[in-house]
Amino acid sequence: MGGYGSGRESRKRAVEDCLCLNVNLLNREGYLQEGSYFTLTWSSSNNWNKWTAKISGISHEDYIVLDYIVNQERKLNYKVYLDKVPMNLGGYKNYLKCPKCNSRVEKIYKSGASAYFLCRDCLDLVYRSSKESGDESARVRRELDKLYRKLGSKWKGIYSVIPEKPKNMHYKIYREIRDKIWVYEMELDKLLIDSFNKLKNQLG
Ligand SMILES: [Zn+2]
Repeated sequence: MGGYGSGRESRKRAVEDCLCLNVNLLNREGYLQEGSYFTLTWSSSNNWNKWTAKISGISHEDYIVLDYIVNQERKLNYKVYLDKVPMNLGGYKNYLKCPKCNSRVEKIYKSGASAYFLCRDCLDLVYRSSKESGDESARVRRELDKLYRKLGSKWKGIYSVIPEKPKNMHYKIYREIRDKIWVYEMELDKLLIDSFNKLKNQLG
């Protein structure tokens, strides 16, 4: 598998592995109404690693208070501010403000490494699908680099002109390399389209 360069990226945590607090969901359930008290629970779906997580919250006019215990002993109780943005047709849309960076978001997450619910950027989270196709496209790019180097050139991006056959190279070898380049470029093209579509669906 990949070299040293690629390892770091793949250790990033995925959004899908975190608890998620979605402001639209809270709103739909009526939990954001002032004075309402709510409890949210998550549980694992697999048998080999059972867990449940539970948080309570109370809504105030412009913030909610989250209340939960981490690592079975540390009791946390903190505010997450709401940002109410007026809409064109009247009413307003609720957002959460990340407790760390204050940015306006719809979802905050809690990963295993963080005691607090924070935004995706603060936790440096990636979407699993884009993470995986990212790794896959990095592999294909490396293969393309190698093939172009064999032709005494550098890969300059998808569907750029394939270099001429080097003087001392057998024509048969050259043709094999050229065919491989085509296959890898088509694979890369497909990966880029796939990852774009997946991301688009998740953000929708
Ligand atoms: Zn943040």
